[in-house]
Amino acid sequence: MAVGKVRPAVQALTGYRPGKAASQAEVEHGITDAIKLASNENPYSPDSDVAAAITDAIAGLNRYGDHRATAMRSTIAQWLALPAEMIAVGCGSSGLLQQLVLTYVDPGDEVVFPWPSFEIYPVFCATFAARDVRVDLVDLEFDLAAVAAAVTERTKLVFLATPNNPTGTAVSTGDIGQLLDSISDEVIVVIDEAYREFNDPAFGDPVTDLLPSHRNVVVTRTFSKAYGLAGLRSGYAIADPEVVTELDKVLLAFSVNNLAQAGAIAAIEHRENAQERVAELVSERNRVTEALRSAGWNFPDSHANFIFVPTGERTDDIYLRMEKAGVVTRPFTGFGVRITISTREENDRWLDALGAP
Ligand SMILES: *Cc1c(COP(=O)(O)O)cnc(C)c1O
Repeated sequence: MAVGKVRPAVQALTGYRPGKAASQAEVEHGITDAIKLASNENPYSPDSDVAAAITDAIAGLNRYGDHRATAMRSTIAQWLALPAEMIAVGCGSSGLLQQLVLTYVDPGDEVVFPWPSFEIYPVFCATFAARDVRVDLVDLEFDLAAVAAAVTERTKLVFLATPNNPTGTAVSTGDIGQLLDSISDEVIVVIDEAYREFNDPAFGDPVTDLLPSHRNVVVTRTFSKAYGLAGLRSGYAIADPEVVTELDKVLLAFSVNNLAQAGAIAAIEHRENAQERVAELVSERNRVTEALRSAGWNFPDSHANFIFVPTGERTDDIYLRMEKAGVVTRPFTGFGVRITISTREENDRWLDALGAP
């Protein structure tokens, strides 16, 4: 007998599918020394300055932190030369994506996004009984004209991840500007920049290029990927102050915890360390791209910290073969495998495990 009356929207849900842990693959295949390249994590631990700031904050853990994360917001605002009223914080940028759905979406409303994209979008839509309207990629790229055409009077949100997860492809602020001009400004357009730091600056900055002329734009960013703080859960959004006020109302109390605030502030203060590692990862991405192409693989340029290999129908076989060799990747059945760029040594290992097409 069922316990309680579960909401049908939740009962039908499978939940978010996290990347498989290396330890789990080791148990499943009876191997040792597996590596996890399934969640686009930074291979480097936080640097000592950031670690020290987090350690210092431990002494205050008997107290609730600052729910509004005032110091974190003002540090971000100063860094970006924006008013603090334009900064929202969340429990990772996923927390902010959930706050956006909570703030704007009623059951039956529509949320439009290109697909495949970040797998958490449909989960949040389903939780709130929203209709997710998925717009197929064309040659692994966004079709922004089709996104615009999919927007109706019921559309409350559009999610655009650029660079996109899992394809690594990106769109320019010029192209997003055209989309914005062709849809109602009552639709909130979320530009999910989880991988911004790995992107080519030529694609533009939505905060300076779009936000001043489009108050319906919300840009989400995170300390999880480039700053190597995925386990800390610290994200932020840049938006019109009115939007920030609404998002703040649904911020789960203290979910950007004391340590997450201390870590985020230190990460900004010592950002040159992260920038060096990002440069290393980008140069590894370029090296791996060349190696894969000379081996005969065909795939789009990645602008993030992972590479998407379109393995089509062979995806599950290739994924399993790599995992048995101790390399855990993220499979998208029938579509391709997404593999995180890591240290040179780990990249050589996955190149080896993938082999030739
Ligand atoms: C990893 C990722 C995020 C962010 O994750 P948080 O850890 O919650 O900040 C957001 N969007 C996309 C597209 C991602 O791949």
